Amino acid sequence: MSDDTPGRLTSRSRSVAGKVVLITGAASGMGRSEAHLFADEGARVAVTDLRQEAVDEVVAEIEGVGGDARGYALDVSDASAIESVTEQIRADLGPIDVLVNNAGISVGGPIDDAEFEDRWQLAMDVLLTAHQRTIRACLDDLRASGEGRIINISSTEGVGAQRGVLPYAAAKHGVIGLTRALAVDLGTDGITVNAICPGPILTGMTELIPEEHRDKFARRRTAVRRYGDPEEVAHMVLNLALPSSSYITGQAIAVDGGLTIKND
Ligand code: NAP
Repeated sequence: MSDDTPGRLTSRSRSVAGKVVLITGAASGMGRSEAHLFADEGARVAVTDLRQEAVDEVVAEIEGVGGDARGYALDVSDASAIESVTEQIRADLGPIDVLVNNAGISVGGPIDDAEFEDRWQLAMDVLLTAHQRTIRACLDDLRASGEGRIINISSTEGVGAQRGVLPYAAAKHGVIGLTRALAVDLGTDGITVNAICPGPILTGMTELIPEEHRDKFARRRTAVRRYGDPEEVAHMVLNLALPSSSYITGQAIAVDGGLTIKND
């Protein structure tokens, strides 16, 4: 979508109005924030997450403020569900223009743990394999869109690692590899593929960490000395989804309050 008003030097659209946006893990935290923000900007949002009731709550919130959203139960570790739910979204809302791979779980544990193999597999299934499956399920739509956008939520654990999070960190590093390789493969289709690396964000994933631990970590590790708000990540997701962001691809962008650059 472009603006051809005579005399205007800026032609690229900064709007996602009317775009169909599929967000995974959208019932909580960053995904919920992203769903609200896209709907506020006039997009048609497919809110997907594990539990239908949780999804319905977010849809009701969005509709309550005049937004356009539909809710779908989707476990991203279920390959056939990805196929059937994307098909349903296409039937209900139209072809998918923007895919946000956001769903995630926290999976840690040392390599010599008896359950390591299971944890590894769980992390790969939910945090990495699911991404390529949702992308393949949406690929024809994204190609047809001409300005398809894929945004994968990685982590600062995708560029480094804390102690004890090996399966999670390995999967999140994989998300960045997937992002870069796909950006190269899909560049001529008008599809951009980017990853976001959030730092510590206050969401369902981190709310059980005692507040004093969170505060201490944020003061010590981030330049802004605080946890981030989910909306601060959502705005970067929206920016990468804009038609005007057409020359940004294959990037892993930190939204981390300066965590990855802080060296003191
Ligand atoms: P969150 O509030 O827990 O949201 C994650 C959502 O994903 C939840 O609604 C969760 O459902 C859902 N989910 C879990 N497994 C799923 C599955 N198999 N299929 C579909 N949905 C599933 O956490 P968040 O922090 O917003 O996480 C969003 C993304 O950011 C994740 O990829 C996470 O790894 C990443 N991230 C988070 C942080 C942070 O500090 N919070 C930092 C870096 C990266 P249930 O609640 O029902 O399990």
